[in-house]
Amino acid sequence: MITLQNFIGGKMCPPQRGRYLDNYEPAKGQIYGQLPDSDASDVEAAIAAAQKAAPAWGKLSTQERSRYLMKVSERIQERLEELAQAESRDNGKPVKLARSVDIPRARDNFAFFATAILHQEDAFHAMGEHGFNYTLRQPLGTVACISPWNLPLYLFTWKICPALAAGNAVVAKPSEVSPYTAYLLGEICQEVGFPAGVLNIVHGRGSKVGEALVKHTAIKAISFTGGTQTGARIAELAAPQFKKLSLELGGKNPNLIFADCDLERAISVSARASFANQGQICLCGSRILIEASIYEEFKKGFLEKVAQLTVGPPHQEEVQMGALVSAAHRDKVLQYIDLARQEGGTVLCGGHALPQPAPYDQGYYLAPTVIEDLPQACRTNSEEIFGPVVTLQPFSSEEEALAKANATEYGLAATVFTQDVNRAHRVAAHLQSGIVWINDWLVRDLRTPFGGMKNSGVGREGGFEALHFFTEAKNVCLTVS
Ligand code: NAD
Repeated sequence: MITLQNFIGGKMCPPQRGRYLDNYEPAKGQIYGQLPDSDASDVEAAIAAAQKAAPAWGKLSTQERSRYLMKVSERIQERLEELAQAESRDNGKPVKLARSVDIPRARDNFAFFATAILHQEDAFHAMGEHGFNYTLRQPLGTVACISPWNLPLYLFTWKICPALAAGNAVVAKPSEVSPYTAYLLGEICQEVGFPAGVLNIVHGRGSKVGEALVKHTAIKAISFTGGTQTGARIAELAAPQFKKLSLELGGKNPNLIFADCDLERAISVSARASFANQGQICLCGSRILIEASIYEEFKKGFLEKVAQLTVGPPHQEEVQMGALVSAAHRDKVLQYIDLARQEGGTVLCGGHALPQPAPYDQGYYLAPTVIEDLPQACRTNSEEIFGPVVTLQPFSSEEEALAKANATEYGLAATVFTQDVNRAHRVAAHLQSGIVWINDWLVRDLRTPFGGMKNSGVGREGGFEALHFFTEAKNVCLTVS
C-alpha cells in the first residue's frame, strides 16, 4: 500500500485529522494506496507556509527563480520512467502515453515557464515629450491551483509553473482520483532544494480542500481545470471576494470532415482525437460531422481503424487504450451509451465493457464506441461524456456543418479537415471555440492561448497570458515638467 502525504512548508505531512481516502488502480479495480482526506485545517497550514515563503520568492531575481524551476524540470526528466509508470498505474492510461506525452509535458511546463520569464518584456507607453508610462507586473502573493484527474501531472504543472515563475507562492490541490504523481512532485521539490513553502500540495476532496482554498481570504487567484459545474461553484464562491479566476472547463468538441479532405489522414487523426486517453481529454473530438457525399466512405474507414485499437492493461507496451479512471466514471459513460440507444442511436461498434483476463478482470475497460443516427439536438450530442464514445452525423453544406458544430453550450476545441485553404480559414473564423486545429489534433505550442468559449471556461492559459494572469499589472506614469 502506498500512503501519500501532503507537502507543506517543504515537508511531507500527514493530514492533521489523520483521515485517509482509498486510492484505486483502475487497471485492476483495486485499492492500492491511500491519500490524505485533508480538510480546512491542512489548507490553513499550507496557506500559512505559502504566506511565509511568498515575499522572499517574489523578490528573487527572475534568473534565480528560473534556475529553481529548471532544477525541477531536470529532475522530472531523470525520474521520467518512474513517473510514467506511476501515472499509468494511478490513472489507467497506457504507460506509453504517459511516457511520451504526460511526463515529458510536465517536464516541459517547468522548462517553458522557467525560460519564458527570462524573455519577458514589460510594457512601456511613451507620451511624446510629456513623459511616459511603464507597467509593473507584480506577483499576487499566494494563489491556488486546482486540477482534474485526466492528465494529472501534465495539467497540475501547467498551472503551478506560471504561478511560481511569476513570483507567487502556490497551494495546489490535485484530483483525489489521481494524486500520485503530484505527491512525487513534492518529493522532487525536496530533492532539488526548492525553497520551503513556495509550493504546497494538499490532497483530498474538492468539497473540503477545494472549497476551503477557494474561500480563503489569503488566496488572491484561482486557476482551475475541471468540470463546468465545479467551475460554476468556484465562481460563485470566489465572486464576493473579487478573486482572479481562470477556469478551464468541459467540452463537446466537433470534428468537421469536408469532402475535399485527405480522407486517410482525416480517419487516422480522428481515431486518435476520439480515443486517446480513453476519450478522457477535454480536447477529444466527440462529435464527428461528415460531409454527406463521403459519409459512408469515412464511416467504413473509421470503423476499420477503430477495430484495430488495442484495449488492455495499461502497463502493456502495445496497448493503445487502457482503463477508464474509476468505476463511477465507467458507469457514467455506460449510462450515456444506454441513453444514446434510447434516443434512437445505432451503436456501430463497442457500447459495452471489455473484461480483461485476471488479475485485470475487475478493471474499468470499455470498448471504443461509435454511434450514428442521432440528431444534433439530443442529450448524447449536447452533454459531455468524457469517455471513449463518439457520434457520427452527416451535413450537406458548410453552413449546416457550422450550425451543428456551434450548437452546444461548450466551446473548447474543434478540428477541421479540408484541403481548401479558404474554407479552412473561413470555417475556423466562424467556429465558436477557443482552439481550432486544421488537418491535425492536439498539436500544442505552449506559447499559444489555451482555453474555451461559452461554458468551456473563462480566461486563457499558455505563454505570457498565463504569466500575466498570475500578476497584478500596475501602471506607473511619470511626466516631464
Ligand atoms: P471535477 O470538476 O470533478 O474536479 C476537478 C478538481 O476540482 C478536482 O481536484 C476536484 O477535487 C476539485 N473540486 C471538486 N469540487 C470542488 C469544489 N466545490 N470546490 C473546489 N474544488 C473542487 O473534474 P474532473 O472530473 O476531475 O475532471 C473532468 C472534467 O475536467 C471534464 O469536464 C473535462 O472536460 C474537464 N477538463 C477540462 C480541461 C480544459 O483545459 N478545459 C482539461 C482537462 C479536463
